[in-house]
Amino acid sequence: MGEPMDIVQSLYELQEMEGDLQKSKNDLAEVISRLDHNEGVVRSRDRAVRVKAAFTKLQLQQSELDVDVQEAVGRLKDLDKRLYSGSTAAPKDLLALQHEIKFTQEKHEGLEAKLLEKMEQVEAGKKAVATIDADLAATELAWEAEQPKLQQEQARLEQHAKEVARAYQAAEAAVDAADLKMYRTLQKSKGMAIAKVERGMCSGCTIAVPSHELQQLRTATTPMRCSSCGRFLFSPR
Ligand SMILES: [Zn+2]
Repeated sequence: MGEPMDIVQSLYELQEMEGDLQKSKNDLAEVISRLDHNEGVVRSRDRAVRVKAAFTKLQLQQSELDVDVQEAVGRLKDLDKRLYSGSTAAPKDLLALQHEIKFTQEKHEGLEAKLLEKMEQVEAGKKAVATIDADLAATELAWEAEQPKLQQEQARLEQHAKEVARAYQAAEAAVDAADLKMYRTLQKSKGMAIAKVERGMCSGCTIAVPSHELQQLRTATTPMRCSSCGRFLFSPR
């Protein structure tokens, strides 16, 4: 065993490296997820699918109305032919024919109005599709443009994690096994085993370290624990 503060310092450095490794791992996962998946692009794609489906439906409705209008036009032609051919002579039949012509004309007008309205909707739908396509293209382009930067960041983080892991192994091997065991036990129960003393405060529990303990910390022959939280106190020299 070395000087108590040296021991605590070594353990504190291990703890810092562990934090660094964990952060690198989290950052790396974040970068990989951003390379693999872009929320904006996914949303744009979903929207494009929905807008296009709605547009297709409008187009279908328009062609159905087209057919209905053509049918009404054909029917009117037939009725007119019958009217002028003179084949319907009885006044009762003539009246019925005139009624049917009037009914069909009204139906035709109604269908024409519906068709016109539908054509306007199709026109608006076409614009919506163009807008969402442009939006999707821009979102995809932005994501693509981000890729080299993300790939660079991924490589940097991987390299950094490798270096820290190597340094960590060396540092861990240099620590006395009993000290390491004590550190791990404390880490298991506290999450953070070593607390830095900052402005006279234990950074683990943020409670002020009594001044006589601060004094002892400088001269202690064994590692000292915070009297509030039990963590080892590290006071950088
Ligand atoms: Zn404490």
